[in-house]
Amino acid sequence: MPDELLQRLQRFQTDAFPLHRSHFRHLVDDGQHPMTLFIGCSDSRLVPYLLTGAGPGELFLVRNVGAFVPPHDQSQGFHGTAAAIEFAVLNLSVKRIVVCGHSHCGAIRALYGDVSPAAKHLSQWLELGREAALPVAEPGPDVLRRTEQRAVVLQLERLMDYPMVRERVEAGTLALHGWHYVIEDGEVHVFDVQRGGFVPAAQADNAGTGPYVAHQPEALQDDESTRL
Ligand SMILES: [Zn+2]
Repeated sequence: MPDELLQRLQRFQTDAFPLHRSHFRHLVDDGQHPMTLFIGCSDSRLVPYLLTGAGPGELFLVRNVGAFVPPHDQSQGFHGTAAAIEFAVLNLSVKRIVVCGHSHCGAIRALYGDVSPAAKHLSQWLELGREAALPVAEPGPDVLRRTEQRAVVLQLERLMDYPMVRERVEAGTLALHGWHYVIEDGEVHVFDVQRGGFVPAAQADNAGTGPYVAHQPEALQDDESTRL
């Protein structure tokens, strides 16, 4: 039985790589200078490079279950996502941070259900989205959609607790973007700070940037006047 994955690796080197050889050479010689830190859910249906039309060297990617941002605290531990945020901001000096959630997100759905007792790390990790959950037992598609979007805003709030992020956002050298990708439509809805809700990219006049106003607690309230 042929090893399909091995075949794909071989095809990459013989067919795809030559088309980009000089670009990768340049990225090695000059180093990477991505402008964007993209924090996305691990879901296989979210394909950041396809979505943004980005090429090699353009996105510094962090992916985890739910596209969550852990709190900035002094706790010891192996904080992979926090470490990536620090590196992207302090070392790479990215100009924007995108937090990208999506439709049909298993992490968000799991907020309304039970997680296997064997998945103790997953269970704890999901708490990072807890505050976005709405007080309903059986969430329908609309509640799930709103929860997915609220979770994105919650992560933006948490990003602002990172001193190096807040400092740059307030200085105008770093922008935060909240996105919600609808898989079946191929459409990104961007968080509009002024409107306190998500707007389809086709109707938006920017990619969801601010100036991001420090802490928008009202954005997380369950208010019928906003789409959240
Ligand atoms: Zn997801």
